[in-house]
Amino acid sequence: MKTAFVYTDAYLDYDYGPTHPLRIIRLKLTYDLIKAYGLLVPPSVQSILTIEAEEKDLAAFHSEGYLNILKQANVGRLTGNAYCLGLGPGDNPVFPGLYDLSLLVTGATLQAVDFVADGKGEIAFNIAGGLHHAMKSRASGFCYINDPVIGIMRLLSRGKRVAYIDIDAHHGDGVQRAFYESNQVLTISLHETGYTLFPGTGFEYEIGEGEGEGYAVNLPFPPETDDDVYVWAFEEVVPELIHAFQPDVVVTQLGVDTFYDDPLTNLHLSMFGYERILKRMKDLAPRWVALGGGGYNISNVARAWTLAWAVMNGIELREDLPESFSKEAEKMGVKERELRGSPRATSHSLNEENRVEMERVVHYIRETVFPKVKR
Ligand SMILES: [Zn+2]
Repeated sequence: MKTAFVYTDAYLDYDYGPTHPLRIIRLKLTYDLIKAYGLLVPPSVQSILTIEAEEKDLAAFHSEGYLNILKQANVGRLTGNAYCLGLGPGDNPVFPGLYDLSLLVTGATLQAVDFVADGKGEIAFNIAGGLHHAMKSRASGFCYINDPVIGIMRLLSRGKRVAYIDIDAHHGDGVQRAFYESNQVLTISLHETGYTLFPGTGFEYEIGEGEGEGYAVNLPFPPETDDDVYVWAFEEVVPELIHAFQPDVVVTQLGVDTFYDDPLTNLHLSMFGYERILKRMKDLAPRWVALGGGGYNISNVARAWTLAWAVMNGIELREDLPESFSKEAEKMGVKERELRGSPRATSHSLNEENRVEMERVVHYIRETVFPKVKR
């Protein structure tokens, strides 16, 4: 098994702004923890330095007008009708180099895609990717360029059949939208329900349209869903769909904002539930392009993606974080000294309520989607 980790410290040259929740330092912290555990050393692991995507790669999905506005915004100032395209103070700020950063992040995703599609290895991980909310002509939810869509389009152009699994706490709306009428890409999103969380979509009855009917799948979870209910619903839906669809490559968005102590969301997963899902993804994916995503507690981001990378490489990690890492991380407010911490129990009655709701959702998906999905 050969794997690739795509990364560059050049990400740190960019900043969404002092009050924005998406802090670039979380990428560096993750890289540092992965290195401190010695997870880039095995000969089966290839470290790939990120190279910027080309403009034509972005144009494969995004409109020319939108890309022109993004390029103008690269100087860090709003111009033209940028407001109408989702840019401006708030979620999608205009900061110096925002277009350059988008080229880097998308480049890393395409490098991960090519590593896998060229047959150089089975798994590649771009922790900076997974910006799943960006639309064809609009920035949304901290996302300017939709690197998962562009990566999937590259795989399709290379004749690959692609399943996309999104476990970010937020619905993977941009990716779903891009392939909603296609049966060439199966999109599955597990997320907190749109009743309580941005972007307000991703209900179970969104199943695709036309030829794509049945090829969009949504598992909306109620707030405070815990490991047991989450893993149960995943098992009831995802493996059977992947077996029926038979993808060549599985692309995953591994957002880590599903944990009970994430400041922006309301799901109640722990590292244990996350690890169980990651191990199942590894079983299910013949080839695997793994992308990052959300995650607003930087300690969780570093620990969860390190755990993910260890799973991808079949390595068991010791629970105590390496001393060299903890010392540095403490300066950034990371207090945790353990990789997984302790499992968290949700109150029994709430757990039951959530299970009943998810039984209803799972039943709906099995009735409506399962008969439609085929190789
Ligand atoms: Zn998210």
